[in-house]
Amino acid sequence: MTEGPLEIVNVYQSLLGIYGDQGNAKVLLKRAQWRGIDAKLTSVEPGDPLPETGDIFLLGGGEDGAQTSAVRALQADGGLHRAVDRGSVVFAVCAGYQIMGHSFGVGADDEPRQGLGLLDVTTTRGAKRAVGEVLHRWTAPGAPTGDDAWLTGFENHGGYTRLGPDATPLARREIGIGNADDGTEGAVQGTVIGTYPHGPILPRNPALADWLLELAVGHELDPLTSAEHQELRRHRLAAVRG
Ligand code: GLN
Repeated sequence: MTEGPLEIVNVYQSLLGIYGDQGNAKVLLKRAQWRGIDAKLTSVEPGDPLPETGDIFLLGGGEDGAQTSAVRALQADGGLHRAVDRGSVVFAVCAGYQIMGHSFGVGADDEPRQGLGLLDVTTTRGAKRAVGEVLHRWTAPGAPTGDDAWLTGFENHGGYTRLGPDATPLARREIGIGNADDGTEGAVQGTVIGTYPHGPILPRNPALADWLLELAVGHELDPLTSAEHQELRRHRLAAVRG
């Protein structure tokens, strides 16, 4: 973690904000503050430099055109690579996840666009668009046991993602499409995490939020229990299992 407050950075909401994924930042901020951790939220837009003091960078979902603009701005900035080099956490959802990889395809012709190469994954158009509620079993190192390892959310993507040897799947697909071909969902490589579900995903899955905070602060955190959150999870799990 850098000097000063834990800094959570929402990246390019004007481009990667259509699915409400900015809620992930609010969850991280509150769960840090509830534990007495000094934390702050920063938002950056294309043209603003990414803060060198950022501890957790968050990217959300977006349409193909916006996604292409976002990756170009991130390439020009270069700050995300520096952040990963100094050990900051990147949590990227859907379009954000695809951007982290080597390349992704856009449009009906699957025209390839270069990604940032921070995750050993490649995305091309799939046979059918993945749309709907999902259920995944979190399997990557750091996964909790029991019901906390069930991840719920909803997916809406045309790209299918294949992992190379340097990336580990975040989860095993139970319901939905996920990465697609191999029954996995998401990818983890060091402190870079990519995943498909919106919801946003972190309010629905607080254990995942806490794991990101732990990666950022470098130690375990005391558990936070909330009857309200347990109830929300019960509802979500029941709804997706039908
Ligand atoms: N444009 C990408 C796709 O369709 C990502 C969509 C999203 O972020 N939900 O695969």
